[in-house]
Amino acid sequence: DVQLAGLVVDPNFVWKKQTVTIAFLNGDYKERLEFRKIYFEWFKCSHIHFIEAPLNQSADIRVGFGLDKGRSWSLIGSLSTEYSVNLTSGKVYRDFKRDFHPSMVIASVSRRSILHEGGHSLSAKHEHGHALANISWHPYFTNGKMFPQMTIDYIQNNYLQTFPLNQSLGPFDKKSVMLYKIFPAMTTDNFSSNLNEDISMNDQFYSSQIYRHFFDNDYKQCEKKIYPGKSNVQIALECYTTWYTQCMRFVRDGEFCEHHRNPWKEYQYFLWVKNETLPLPYRRVQTNGTIIVIILLLVLLVCICALLVWQHRRLRRIERYLTSPGQQLSRSEL
Ligand SMILES: [Zn+2]
Repeated sequence: DVQLAGLVVDPNFVWKKQTVTIAFLNGDYKERLEFRKIYFEWFKCSHIHFIEAPLNQSADIRVGFGLDKGRSWSLIGSLSTEYSVNLTSGKVYRDFKRDFHPSMVIASVSRRSILHEGGHSLSAKHEHGHALANISWHPYFTNGKMFPQMTIDYIQNNYLQTFPLNQSLGPFDKKSVMLYKIFPAMTTDNFSSNLNEDISMNDQFYSSQIYRHFFDNDYKQCEKKIYPGKSNVQIALECYTTWYTQCMRFVRDGEFCEHHRNPWKEYQYFLWVKNETLPLPYRRVQTNGTIIVIILLLVLLVCICALLVWQHRRLRRIERYLTSPGQQLSRSEL
């Protein structure tokens, strides 16, 4: 569905169930807590209920820290429940036990890698592969000479691969957390990008549209219930507390969850998710529509003025005819 394509998403691996379990293969208390705090940012725009599970309970996503020679990676979305990566052979295999090998590896606890790999685990792919990105790669980069440590296969799979329009939601998004750092020398037209550290507004918007039904599930009772004599603010403060509830379940840090708790903001966010239903390019067309209406109104105003001026002159002419006796009033001259 093109409407659902600034995020590239594989629709086959979008999570079907709302509760997704996560287990850690290693890492100390501090690393795991930091991971949960950062990874939980994806809750806001997906409403997937993340739950930490013990390793022996076959969690949907299995996270390892620094297990793969300084590399970070993740399987795409719900593929994580079926496959793991064997760290010795480096091969992806069908994993029935899910209690030993990772579906995601974070080289070190950093905001960028947790949010980027987290995006993969929710089914997002690389933004530079967006159908509308149109990046003109420099041959010196694509033939592997610029970065000898990268194999041609790696460059092909991680940089050059492009995705069809029906997986590329909205416009190409330069601020996406799913975009790689690209240096100007890597392209022929000086295109470059930063290592984005935040889930961009576009990332959030399209993620929320993919997982829109999870929002509806969570806010069903808030939408249905009628609170007589209560303002929207009061309703929001009582009902839009899902973020806090889920934070206490997954992050489990009272101080952190309390500090970021804001039911009113959560309510406003849901209104944004609910009402901004048109992808960004379509909204721009709408703006053009407004401009056209304004131009038409201006043209109409000019016409009315011209008509008034013409009418005024006509009256003046009649006046002149009437005040000069002996002149025959010809109908056509009026
Ligand atoms: Zn990636």
